[in-house]
Amino acid sequence: MRNKCENCGKCCLETEMILSPQDIKIIINSLPNNIRKEDFTFKNINEQYQLRNIEGHCFFLDYSNKECKIYKFRPQGCKFYPLIYDINKKKCRLDEECPRNNLFYKDNQTLRNECQNVKMFLKNQLNIKIN
Ligand code: SF4
Ligand code: SF4
Repeated sequence: MRNKCENCGKCCLETEMILSPQDIKIIINSLPNNIRKEDFTFKNINEQYQLRNIEGHCFFLDYSNKECKIYKFRPQGCKFYPLIYDINKKKCRLDEECPRNNLFYKDNQTLRNECQNVKMFLKNQLNIKIN
């Protein structure tokens, strides 16, 4: 396997990934053509920007090879994934919907550190109250 996500792309189908203002800025500044925020985002009922889906998958997924077209500057939430924060249980967990979630974050210390980063991201960049 070339990388952990090769030929998968499952998390990019019907994505509900929330974007921070910084995520949006990085994507717009990194793409050569004049992409507009409206092209790849929409505002959800909580007034947060989310990635837009086209034909059932993320705007940025190349469905033919299941690769992210903006991998190097993909949103922060996509970088953390499959690590997510469970608001109800108030803790981080590896999403069971990722079929290869055991291949990520093998080391517990790394997992704990990254969980802190997830929580900081939610609080500071998405203004989500997590406890
Ligand atoms: S993070 Fe998991 S679900 Fe997403 S593409 Fe990689 S292996 Fe698939
Ligand atoms: S930005 Fe890339 S990694 Fe994130 S959901 Fe879209 S295609 Fe997948």
